[in-house]
Amino acid sequence: MSGDFVQYAYLLSAVLLILGMRNLGSPKTAPRGNLLASLGMAVAVVATLLIQEVVSYWTVFAGMLVGSAIGLLLALRIQMTAMPQMVALLNGFGGAASALVSSAELLRYARDADASLGGIVPLAIALGVLIGGLTFTGSLVAFGKLQELLRGQAVVYPGQRVVNGLLGLLVLCVTAAMVLDPLSLQWFYGVLALALLLGVLLIIPIGGADMPVVIALLNSYSGLAACATGFVLDNAGLVIAGSLVGASGLILTKVMCDAMNRSLGNVLFGAFGAVDATAGSSGGAPDGRTAKGYTPEDAAVIFSNARSCIVVPGYGMAVAQAQHAVRELADLLGSQGIGVKFAIHPVAGRMPGHMNVLLAEADVPYEALVEMDHINPEFPETDVALVIGANDVVNPDARTDQGSPIYGMPILDVDRAQHVFVIKRSMNPGFAGVQNPLFFNENTMMIFGDAKGMVLKIVEAVKALS
Ligand code: NDP
Repeated sequence: MSGDFVQYAYLLSAVLLILGMRNLGSPKTAPRGNLLASLGMAVAVVATLLIQEVVSYWTVFAGMLVGSAIGLLLALRIQMTAMPQMVALLNGFGGAASALVSSAELLRYARDADASLGGIVPLAIALGVLIGGLTFTGSLVAFGKLQELLRGQAVVYPGQRVVNGLLGLLVLCVTAAMVLDPLSLQWFYGVLALALLLGVLLIIPIGGADMPVVIALLNSYSGLAACATGFVLDNAGLVIAGSLVGASGLILTKVMCDAMNRSLGNVLFGAFGAVDATAGSSGGAPDGRTAKGYTPEDAAVIFSNARSCIVVPGYGMAVAQAQHAVRELADLLGSQGIGVKFAIHPVAGRMPGHMNVLLAEADVPYEALVEMDHINPEFPETDVALVIGANDVVNPDARTDQGSPIYGMPILDVDRAQHVFVIKRSMNPGFAGVQNPLFFNENTMMIFGDAKGMVLKIVEAVKALS
């Protein structure tokens, strides 16, 4: 097959991938974006299959069959709430694939007595092994934490930064030695072992609400590893796709850091979640105030006098699968002349865009979804803020308490609304493990129970009153 044809196919694939990403920027065009990106990937895979070099088609198809079967099974069985873990695993496998391919190429050269490695290839192999290896173990640790197989909170020990710093230095030296003398395999084994160790040590001090940022960063690493492997194989398709993943992962990391008002350095080395984050989670406010429980009927009475309502969905809405009930309530309130909007916090739920996906599934119009910066000025003028299974993203301590682990994270200012209803099952804290003073405010009314059940009861009560 002509090399030119394959290169043109890679170019087409790159254009399709970029257009796909462009379209993913808005919920309206996202399905088209998915389609274009998938098409781009298919073009790249078919083009690559046309260059038959290492293994037979049968081996390739057998691998694709097994991989697709496992992927299909996982995709069908995965709960929406477990998506971050799934993404962590996928990043890890991407990293492992890059490290394995780079290693295989090096070993192939090493077996050939006449081989010599030159140009950018030794550096690309070293980076493929290093970044791929640390992405693999780092992602496995992130998966273990999110799946609660490992302790979710940050693991810290005295001298941790010094140990990590020295290890980083050692990695640099051994990697440099590997680049300079690639066919002496002891350097390769050194880089591989250090990369696997570094992945674990870099991720264990990160915990709590910082995990999603780390997943986005590992996603970027997996792209960079793939990009390096593209240089090893001289495969333009892999270089382009890898750099797109690397760049978009970095952009997402930056957006998420901004959403939490943290620097990347602080996320990676700040050991968030290592503090006693459960302090104050016993159910009472430190100043002796207690939360007040109300019923769905009480909410219906308040709604009967309201003109405006902002619904604030969070992780609990996802767990309860309450999005359809929430849409029903929003429609009902709308039909009674109440203006209803949805406030979307960038890290509400457990993955970027989690609330958008759920509300879109329930056919809530996109125009009703308002982002944090735009909706916050509206809370003081709003009659009712209805918080459904959200906690950290509405915690006013993030604004005021410098000692709080989530201090500085931008939040939705629901406490500034006239009345606040919070639907959750108990006084338990959210993901960050900190208590929320909002629940003890004079204008806050707690409705304890499962989000879906409670929202449906409010619907009944509102209907009964009208
Ligand atoms: P939180 O995790 O802060 O709070 C969710 C609340 O939902 C809990 O307090 C829980 O209280 C309640 N809840 C759970 N199940 C139900 C149910 N069936 N019915 C009613 N309520 C329920 O969620 P937020 O969305 O406010 O904040 C997201 C947090 O997750 C942030 O800290 C963010 O940094 C982090 N994160 C975000 C990711 C992202 O990319 N979006 C990814 C990973 C983490 P109770 O048990 O009392 O019911």
